[in-house]
This record gives sequence, structure tokens and C-alpha cells, in this order.
Amino acid sequence: MRDTIPRVLIVGGGFGGLAAAKALKNTPANIVLIDRTNHHLFQPLLYQVATSVLTPGQIGSPIRGIVGEQQNTTVILGEVAGVDKDEKRVWLNVTDRRCVPLQYDFLILATGVTHSYFGHNEFAEFAPGLKSLADAVAIRNKILQAFEQAEAEEDPARHRDLLTFVLVGAGPTGVEMSAAIANLVNNTLKSEFRRINPASAQIILLDMAPRVLGSFSESISHAAKERLEKLGVEVRLGHGVDQIDEDGVIVAGERIFSKTVIWTAGVSPSPAGKWLEIGTDRAGRVRVEQNLSVPGHPEIFVVGDTASLDQDGKPLPGVAQVAMQQGRYAGKLIARRITGQPDPPPFRYFDKGNMAVVGKGFAVLQTGKLHISGFLAWLAWAAVHLQFLAQSNLRVSVFVQWVWTYLTGQRGSRLIVNHHGAESAKPAVEHAPAQLTTMSQ
Ligand SMILES: Cc1cc2nc3c(=O)[nH]c(=O)nc-3n(C[C@H](O)[C@H](O)[C@H](O)COP(=O)(O)OP(=O)(O)OC[C@H]3O[C@@H](n4cnc5c(N)ncnc54)[C@H](O)[C@@H]3O)c2cc1C
Repeated sequence: MRDTIPRVLIVGGGFGGLAAAKALKNTPANIVLIDRTNHHLFQPLLYQVATSVLTPGQIGSPIRGIVGEQQNTTVILGEVAGVDKDEKRVWLNVTDRRCVPLQYDFLILATGVTHSYFGHNEFAEFAPGLKSLADAVAIRNKILQAFEQAEAEEDPARHRDLLTFVLVGAGPTGVEMSAAIANLVNNTLKSEFRRINPASAQIILLDMAPRVLGSFSESISHAAKERLEKLGVEVRLGHGVDQIDEDGVIVAGERIFSKTVIWTAGVSPSPAGKWLEIGTDRAGRVRVEQNLSVPGHPEIFVVGDTASLDQDGKPLPGVAQVAMQQGRYAGKLIARRITGQPDPPPFRYFDKGNMAVVGKGFAVLQTGKLHISGFLAWLAWAAVHLQFLAQSNLRVSVFVQWVWTYLTGQRGSRLIVNHHGAESAKPAVEHAPAQLTTMSQ
């Protein structure tokens, strides 16, 4: 039986969902926050886990811990599989049950995005993307494993493809990650290997666009590209990737041999539009009203990366600030409705600016008419990222790690951690000496 207190279901404990839950903190309502993982993830620093600077625990916080003090909020670990908007319920898959119905009075969908291989899903096997902690650890394993394999390889001819790292997509993630790999090879790893020279690694950043960081101004793109090249990253623009396979990539008809290809290009939204059977933009994001509700359903809101909203004739970007401001707005709007107050004015995004880091001590920053690059921008980048980490213990721990890495080049976690059942656990039966094979029979 339902109680009479309104129930607000929030799906997604990312930037948008968490901001919505916090905005409803003092509202007389039952807030149910559902996520398929048990943690909120600070995605802007995922590349630092993938390149061994930080550990997974430094950028992820248990959602239960973040809202633990919020008495009106229940956290559920589960995956929403659909929405029945007429009956006002969602279908939830939990550990031991599927399609459990869960009623709502208000629903906020903040389910983010996933990788998009632009119709080439076959690339996924050879070019992992970076979206979750598991992705970051898998990429970290792949990068570190390449150096180990090259060191163990006696034939120098085979070093070339092991020490070639290709990143597909020169947006903020591709730029930040390629610069971070350059720092890894030039600083941290440079004196630790005997048969190979890690600094000879080739790092190639590809994009079909004519410039890196396409969402920034031309002068910022230029500064970022110059910096990347100074760090030893080869930037190849203007051509899409034709093929990605176990030998590497083919771009503009040329084969680049590489054992480590990383996908830092497209994203596609969660299936929220399909669940709601409602209009989406070309990318599949749900078109929302100016108050972030879904047309015809004033009790359903979609926020963050999975929502599509134009402001001043331009679509809002898929960035954390948009998600947080939208989540906060939807939470406040619902709180006002529940407490019998009029709706707030339509949502308006306040752009605080964009930043990207390009290796040690260098970032680019664009806010209004201010476009700067270099050390000052990097300090601003560091301060903003520390401020937005979910919990104060993470702020302290990340700050200390950054100072340490900056001063010594040493990184937080360079472990290759294969999950059970991974390749390395397999016995090498094929090459076992004959007598051992005989003994075991
Ligand atoms: C590598 C990377 C780097 C980035 N760098 C920056 C940056 O520097 N600056 C910036 O502003 N933005 C950056 N972004 C973008 C930013 O992270 C997103 O814009 C932001 O996370 C969007 O917030 P959201 O709440 O919409 O989605 P998310 O934060 O992605 O949260 C979605 C949540 O929904 C959960 N979920 C999804 N589907 C379901 C389901 N069916 N059932 C239950 N739970 C579900 C997910 O587990 C997740 O917790 C980056 C993104 C990535 C991937």
C-alpha cells in the first residue's frame, strides 16, 4: 500500500540525479534514488585513473554515503529497465528480481550517456571507451600491460605496435588522456625499463574534425594542439577512422599498427527516450520543456546528458555543470509543487566556462570573453575539480596525490589488476615441457 507522502523517484546518481536529491533534502516527500552502481562517479577525472595518477576510490563515492544524512532519501541499487508513464511506475531490475514495479508521483530521469561508435559497434572490442571506473581500470591495465609485454619481447620489431598508443577523438577526453600518457612515458616510466625506452612510445591522437577541442575557441584549440605536440603527441586531424581491429586502426587509407587503441569520441544517450516513447533530438536525447519536464507529463523530468534543451538557439552541452544546474532546478521545482508554491521561472543555464588540462601544469580555460592557456588556467582547473569532488576526504586525498605526482612523477596506482578469469590466469599448456605433460596424465 502507498503512503500519502508523495514519492519522488530519481533515476541516476550522477551529477544531475544527485543535485536533484540534494535540492529535495528538506521536502516532505519520500525520495528514492536509484542507480545501477553503488557510487557517484566524478567522470572528469576518469582519465587520471586510466593513466594511473589516481585510484578508483579517489574519484568515486558511495551514493549511500553522500546522502546518508538525508533522512527522507532511500538509495536503491538497481537498474531501471522501463517507464510506464500512464500508470506512473518504473520497472526495476535488482540483484535477484527483474521488472519490479515501483510507483512514483514525480519522476526525474538523469541516466546520462554511454559510448557511441557511430554505427561501428564492432570497434568496441578493440577500442574500449572511458565512461565508468571499470572502463578506466581496463584501460589502465591495457596501457601498463603494453609496456610489460614490450619489455618481455625479445624481437625489437614487435616493440613498435606495443608502444604505439592511438586515441580516437580529440575532444577534452582525448586531449587530456593523450597528454597524460605522454607524461606517464616521459616522467614516471622512463628509467624503469631495460630493454625498451618508454619515452620512444608513439602517441597518436586522431579526429575527423579540423581541430582539437572543437567546442572551444580557435585560439584555445591552437594552444592545446601546440602543447600536445610539445609533449610528443602526434595529432592527426581531418580524417575519420575507417577500421579498428586487432592490428590497430586504418585512417585515410593508412594502417597504424597498435595494440592499444582507446575510443574517446562519441557518446549516445541512455534509452530514456525509448522508455517514455517521446520525441528526441537526432542524437536520441529527450526533448524537454523549458521547465525540464516532458511534454504532456508535468510530473516527469529529464535532466543532464540525456536531456535536450536549446538556449539562445543553441543546444546545451553535455557537461557536468548543465547536469548539476538542471538537477537542482528539477528538485526545487518539485519541492515547490509539493509544498503548494508556484513554479519557478523557466530553467536557464549559467555557463561558468569550460576547461581542459593538457599535461602537467598546463590547461586551457574559456569563460565569456576570457580565453587563457597555461599554468594559471591549470591552477584554476585544479581548484575547480577539487571543489566539485563529492566528499571532503576525496578533496584532501586527490590534492595530496596531485602535489606528490607533480613533485616526484610518482603515481597513485600503477597496478595491473585482472579480474578473475582473465587471460593471465590461463595455464600455458601449449608450451609445457613434454615430461610435465606426461606426469600429469
Ligand atoms: C571521461 C569523461 C570526462 C568528462 N570530463 C568532463 C569535464 O572535464 N567537465 C565537464 O563539465 N564534464 C565532463 N564530462 C561530462 C560529464 O561527466 C557529464 O556531462 C555528466 O556526468 C552528466 O551528468 P548526468 O547526471 O547527466 O549523467 P552521469 O553523471 O553520467 O550519471 C548517470 C547515472 O545514471 C546511472 N544510470 C544510467 N542508466 C541507469 C539505469 N537504467 N538505471 C539506473 N541507473 C542508471 C549511471 O550509473 C550514472 O550513475 C566528462 C565525461 C566523461 C565520460
